[in-house]
Amino acid sequence: MSEPEAFDVIVVGAGIIGVATAYHLQKNSPDKRILLLDRYLAAGQANTAMSAAAVRNMFASSTNQMLTDSSIRFIEHIQEELGFELLFEKCGYLWLLSDSQFNSESVQMWISRMKASNIAFKVYNKTELKELIPHLVVDFENNEEAELMHLKEVSYGLFGPDCGVLDPTRLVQFYLEEFKKISSVKPRYGVNVQRLILEADPKLDLPGEPFVWQDKRVVGVKTEKGELRADCVVLATGAWSNELLDPIGIDSKTKGKKRQLFVVHATDNEGLNNLLHVKGFNDMDMCPFVILPSAGVYFRPQLQEQAFWIGCGDKLGRSYNYVQTDEDLIPESAYYENSMFPVLSAYFPDFASTRPVNSWAGGYCYSPDAIPFVYLENGVLVSNGASGSGIMKADAMARIADALYRGLPEAELYGGKKIPSDTLSIKNRKVEVESVVI
Ligand SMILES: Cc1cc2nc3c(=O)[nH]c(=O)nc-3n(C[C@H](O)[C@H](O)[C@H](O)COP(=O)(O)OP(=O)(O)OC[C@H]3O[C@@H](n4cnc5c(N)ncnc54)[C@H](O)[C@@H]3O)c2cc1C
Repeated sequence: MSEPEAFDVIVVGAGIIGVATAYHLQKNSPDKRILLLDRYLAAGQANTAMSAAAVRNMFASSTNQMLTDSSIRFIEHIQEELGFELLFEKCGYLWLLSDSQFNSESVQMWISRMKASNIAFKVYNKTELKELIPHLVVDFENNEEAELMHLKEVSYGLFGPDCGVLDPTRLVQFYLEEFKKISSVKPRYGVNVQRLILEADPKLDLPGEPFVWQDKRVVGVKTEKGELRADCVVLATGAWSNELLDPIGIDSKTKGKKRQLFVVHATDNEGLNNLLHVKGFNDMDMCPFVILPSAGVYFRPQLQEQAFWIGCGDKLGRSYNYVQTDEDLIPESAYYENSMFPVLSAYFPDFASTRPVNSWAGGYCYSPDAIPFVYLENGVLVSNGASGSGIMKADAMARIADALYRGLPEAELYGGKKIPSDTLSIKNRKVEVESVVI
């Protein structure tokens, strides 16, 4: 029997986390043979492609602030200095908040932590919001439907000018092209990893190994096309991580949740067209990414399509899935009609006469504290748990993964800030719980 193919590193999963990691690893270890593989037929086709691809540095935990702020700066660098078009538009994020939400302990703590980290933000009052967005409904007096739905009135807007939206496929393309320029190994697609190969370390070649008294490490992957061996296996399989980690006894501590987006065109709707090109928030006279005060409903502007993508960060009532299933890929039109639409059209009546022209669904990969995991354990380097914000954290997560691979105590993020390499590990985790999850 022929020997299995061998590499220095195998990166399983070519979503945004996998491609960014493959790129940073290869850049800093040019002589290593790094294989990037995915079971889909191209990179970035799973949850990365399903993303709203909005990016924000407005988090409550200093860890997420650091991960996203540096990643967004790198995104800007790619587009502005390297000239690679990502369709990154700094339209800003606008949280619409009720009086009690704004004055709550958690929002005030979020604001004070942003101040401490020099994250730019601005607070608008109700009058200012009404002037900027005349069609926004801020009061629901005598509105029985709104009362029935317990919709919160809008008293404040919390705006982040350094946030924006981009095209996730182009971001994947950037990392992939750069990786391919410097890698001696071509990425492989249509390769499903069935399991991680765990062996005794060192191997004694006794029948029945590995035994409980032996040290063990992951030495490769078993695929439908045979075994592939590597000194280090990077697991960037997001919402499918449990499938590969459970069988070898590593608890990934992550779980998935279905998330969906619905596209509404603004072309034939004067009110929506005005909203899409609302003035006063950014240089492009473009609507910011807006989060409503009730029910977790949000929308992102999509200028190229002249459209809005409407989503909902539903919490209680939306089940957690241990592993993302095929059902998670089916958007629910009744959910839009009955759950999201009444809320959306109450705050923005211009949406009332429109219906979605397109929709899709995917999954978030949640960690318990909504802060990602990046750790190296027994030959497997896991990077997952981005908790619905992997596009905006991928660059920083990849730099931390690279520092772990090279045995460095600290990772340097884009812009020069340093973070201990084990900050995002399970065993030595040093993070605050994130409270601002959409
Ligand atoms: C509706 C929605 C909206 C979102 N909005 C935002 C947003 O606005 N901003 C933001 O930052 N993030 C957002 N996200 C989250 C973001 O998309 C994810 O955090 C990010 O894509 C995670 O990247 P990933 O590489 O870990 O996962 P994925 O893109 O899912 O990649 C994992 C890859 O692993 C491969 N894989 C899995 N198992 C195997 C196996 N056994 N063998 C081979 N290959 C395997 C898969 O095929 C897949 O390509 C959103 C997600 C959804 C669903």
